[in-house]
Amino acid sequence: MMKKPHVPIIAIEEHYYDAELVKTFQGPEAAKGGPIDERLYDYGALRLKEMDEAGIDIQVLSHGAPATQKLSADVAAKVASGVNDRLAAIVKANPKRFAGFCALPTAVPEAAADELERCVKQLGMKGAMIHGTANGEFLDKQKYWPIFARAEELDVPIYLHPALPDPRVTEIYLADYIKDFPLVARPAWGFTVETATMAIRLVLSGLFEKHPKLKLILGHFGETLPFLLWRIDSALKRPGGKQVAFRDIFSKNFYLTTSGFFSNPALLCCVMEMGVDHILFAVDWPFVMDNKPGVAWMENVPLSDEDKAKILSGNAKKLLRM
Ligand code: MN
Repeated sequence: MMKKPHVPIIAIEEHYYDAELVKTFQGPEAAKGGPIDERLYDYGALRLKEMDEAGIDIQVLSHGAPATQKLSADVAAKVASGVNDRLAAIVKANPKRFAGFCALPTAVPEAAADELERCVKQLGMKGAMIHGTANGEFLDKQKYWPIFARAEELDVPIYLHPALPDPRVTEIYLADYIKDFPLVARPAWGFTVETATMAIRLVLSGLFEKHPKLKLILGHFGETLPFLLWRIDSALKRPGGKQVAFRDIFSKNFYLTTSGFFSNPALLCCVMEMGVDHILFAVDWPFVMDNKPGVAWMENVPLSDEDKAKILSGNAKKLLRM
């Protein structure tokens, strides 16, 4: 049998840690050590070895949560620019294997917009990643819109990544289950609720009427929203509320990744709602500790080779201009 031509694999939600930034993390978000941290702080040998073992050609690197979203306004811009300069150096050391999403000082939105522009134009970053709320505020508040305006102008996406939900939400919804199921407040459910709420609020805010070319990325197959799109859209159209083209906006302006979610039913639901051009491959390494299962799953997904190639790298090349 003829060997299939190699399809490059670009994984776009792959994390690292910057020691200076991690020093600012507090409480449950502080670093704990262990094999995940060992990988987060590895910018070369171990990372590349595990990419090679799985056949991943390029990682688009982003910081781990909460990145720069909990910094106060007086230090955020300075800390973020240092983080981004150091990320640019990591990418520059292995430019064929790494690309980057910058971190933004969301506490100072105008400065964050300028930092996005600097990172894209001067450091070659592919966009930005924002982790959860900005010091407790959802980003649909108009004071954050300069960041989205600049992303639209630069034609780069912003990746909305989860962070720990507001402690009040966790307390009411999940606190009594955290002892036995610590991950329920994190990827098993808490992250999903937080990030889906962020996306819903952004659509309801009118942001996309003002910035129709804005591109946002959600990980984890869109944090449940593709499955719910029809219902959200139809419920919002019932009498009594303002009209919003929820399903149209979501499926046009949002892109989804496979990060930490290697499921055929979830994939097919997303393809049906969003179209294959809006789905991009990611592992979520090293929080998903092994690259191989995600790549192996993609080999056998029930899609054509052309569609698989789009998900594995074709869509990333277009969206991130790689
Ligand atoms: Mn992640």
